[in-house]
Amino acid sequence: MARILITSAIPYINGIKHLGNLIGSQLPADLFARYQRGRGNEVMFLCATDEHGTPAELAAAKAGKPVAEYCAEMHEVQADIAKRFGLSFDHFGRSSSPQNHKLTQHFAGKLAKAGLIREVTEKQVYSNADGRFLPDRYIEGTCPNCGYEKARGDQCENCTKQLDPTDLIDPRSAISGSTDLEVRETKHLYLRQSAMKDQLDAWIDSKTDWPVLTTSIAKKWLHDGDGLQDRGITRDLDWGIPVKKGDEDWPGMEGKVFYVWFDAPIEYIACAKEWADAHGKPDAEWERWWRTDKGADDVRYVQFMGKDNVPFHTLSFPATILGSGEPWKLVDHLKSFNYLNYDGGQFSTSQGRGVFMDQALDILPADYWRWWLLSHAPESSDSEFTWENFQQSVNKDLADVLGNFVSRITKFCRSKFGEEVPSGGAYGEREQALIEELTKRIRAYEAHMEAMEVRKSAQELRAIWVAGNEYLQAAAPWSTFKEDPEKAAAQVRLGLNLIRLYAVLSAPFIPETSARMLSAMNTLDTNWPEDVEAALSALPAGHEFAVPDVLFAKITDEQREDWQTRFAGVRS
Ligand SMILES: [Zn+2]
Repeated sequence: MARILITSAIPYINGIKHLGNLIGSQLPADLFARYQRGRGNEVMFLCATDEHGTPAELAAAKAGKPVAEYCAEMHEVQADIAKRFGLSFDHFGRSSSPQNHKLTQHFAGKLAKAGLIREVTEKQVYSNADGRFLPDRYIEGTCPNCGYEKARGDQCENCTKQLDPTDLIDPRSAISGSTDLEVRETKHLYLRQSAMKDQLDAWIDSKTDWPVLTTSIAKKWLHDGDGLQDRGITRDLDWGIPVKKGDEDWPGMEGKVFYVWFDAPIEYIACAKEWADAHGKPDAEWERWWRTDKGADDVRYVQFMGKDNVPFHTLSFPATILGSGEPWKLVDHLKSFNYLNYDGGQFSTSQGRGVFMDQALDILPADYWRWWLLSHAPESSDSEFTWENFQQSVNKDLADVLGNFVSRITKFCRSKFGEEVPSGGAYGEREQALIEELTKRIRAYEAHMEAMEVRKSAQELRAIWVAGNEYLQAAAPWSTFKEDPEKAAAQVRLGLNLIRLYAVLSAPFIPETSARMLSAMNTLDTNWPEDVEAALSALPAGHEFAVPDVLFAKITDEQREDWQTRFAGVRS
């Protein structure tokens, strides 16, 4: 039995995510986790909310709540939606957890001890009215280049000129609007990533099985221009993990917190401890997933993320781990995704454009979305959601191919043999041909799933469903029954067994429907079809079943047009 650790990029806390976010990491990670469990492997699948940083503070202020309370509430909201989408995390943690506080401070202490942290004194804008330092993007003023009055401290979005906050004319706080600003000196910690360049380079060179896209992105950051830069790991904020060296105070860093980019990936690890603590398990139980000196040397670790997150996962987080000098598990394989666009444009959280996870579940069950999103995953290039394509895919793949197959065979059996698997007859040439085709296709499906080729896996699964339909069409038990009821009985027996087989194979994509199919077939047997012929005799003659309700309702043109209009505008 293989052991597989899976993490999905952790979603930021400030709101409900859209479908583009979902297919960018969490959903394909769930597909892989479910598949690996289905094959009998031991899986640890972790995700969490990313809760620190200024955007969380601002979102809380907007909601009129203390930031800790806001984050706790939004975590519950996101956890509930994830559950309703069937995301099968072993634990859905929080980057603000006490476990992550402790571990982040631990890593900082180890990095300091290794000489990989330097202190830098910087000048930063302080707002007297707000009682805080302001990050560059929270300072507004007039652009010295073009005169645009709402330029941000980091960039003017009118003329795109890169700016320093001190370049702005009439600067003011974007939080309160106050102009009572002054430049103060403040001290920050930097992670000396530049000192780790060669070590990271060698580590990436050792990853010969990584996709070229992944290694080329990492190499670009390592070598372009002046090479990998040192990076600030602290901020002057209230909300975050207090800066400490392990358990000890850090002189001169009082009142400061770690920068969110530093603590967020450490939550991948802390989340496993949260899982252990939540289940009353000893530390050894989570450490066997993360510490190569404590059992994790045979773990395969796979990360799922959007392409914009690749540099971070190939360089910054590994710099933290390698720099600690401790035997933590490093990533073995990264699966990254391009972007999903929405109906001729982009999904936009700020403009509320596109379909958000809660809205999606308000109009259709999760499996409809899971199937479309996964079968159109933005792998080799960006992909686009259109309502026409969604309607077509649901109606054809799910309703016509899979749903219709299940409905036809169960209803025919009920009308001629009753609600039990019929006896008599034997599989002949046609059945042998089907078994051979299915064997070939299932082995291909396994290979695609193993390689995390999401679209190819979906195509193969669909072809497996189609093969059953074509068999049923050609065998035509409704005709056979008139001349040779025994032969028809064997055909129907095969068809009913195919439903169980389809339920097992389809579970990673459409888990809720798969469970309904198994329940209708009155079986708990979810064994993977290593031997297809044997799998097609799993339900013996005499085994009772029930005709299920319609698995997938077709999407009508009226529905499609209604949704198209409803989601084009601004989310209220
Ligand atoms: Zn400008």
